Amino acid sequence: MTWGWRLDDDMCHLVLTDWNKKGAQAGFTTRKGGFSSGDYESLNMALHVGDTSRTVLDNREKVAVSFGFDPGQMVCAQQIHGKQVAVVGGGDAGRGFYDHADSLAGCDGIVTNQPGIMLTLFFADCIPIYLFDPVRKAVGLIHSGWKGTALRIVEVGITALEKNFRCHPRDLQVFIGPGIGPECFAVNEERLRQVRQAFAWSEKVIYSDAENHYYWDLPLTNELIIRDAGVPEENITSCRICTACNQELFFSYRGAGGRTGRMGAVLGLLD
Ligand SMILES: [Zn+2]
Repeated sequence: MTWGWRLDDDMCHLVLTDWNKKGAQAGFTTRKGGFSSGDYESLNMALHVGDTSRTVLDNREKVAVSFGFDPGQMVCAQQIHGKQVAVVGGGDAGRGFYDHADSLAGCDGIVTNQPGIMLTLFFADCIPIYLFDPVRKAVGLIHSGWKGTALRIVEVGITALEKNFRCHPRDLQVFIGPGIGPECFAVNEERLRQVRQAFAWSEKVIYSDAENHYYWDLPLTNELIIRDAGVPEENITSCRICTACNQELFFSYRGAGGRTGRMGAVLGLLD
């Protein structure tokens, strides 16, 4: 599967054009081309990070127009770094678009088989994971930071697709989007212990440097969890772009020391 960039006005989105032909629309915004200023310059998509709400709504509307959907189709989640995945339908359309408090509570993943719903989650270093079953026509979007990765939230998302829509992991197409890369994700002793406890193959995803600092590869960890869940390796594409290494293009929570905007990941079935 190939991915690419789409320039629109002064925006620059990562898009999965291959999926359009198979019935899904997927994209990831960058920080380019929005209306926010200061720490949030400029295409901040999240309402909950201290930016002016009206400006965020302008940014969201600009992105919706660019992708050709109505803002009222968006379904957002509150994202608490847990492992809950919500199943949504037509009645959820618009949740979290105008008001963060109206987002799906307590979850970090969303799945649907309803065309016209645009699953939307927000990122600045955490790993965005796109799941698409072109056979059963279902999609899932997952927010997997280090906590979610340790909790294997992406596996919960795959199970939700199986249980609710009779998807089979062998049919799933998966894209792992921009997030913090191993070279920028140093971990302390405690975290290192957690990784080793959580994954039998932890040594594949931990690196150390000459000074005995340790680094954890979150995108690869998620990829290995997805393969363990039965998705064929050839169905998985990981873009391997580090948000912290590319702060001209992306918001990075670690890179900015905490106060920054969020990119939006969007995923929906086409009618
Ligand atoms: Zn990096």
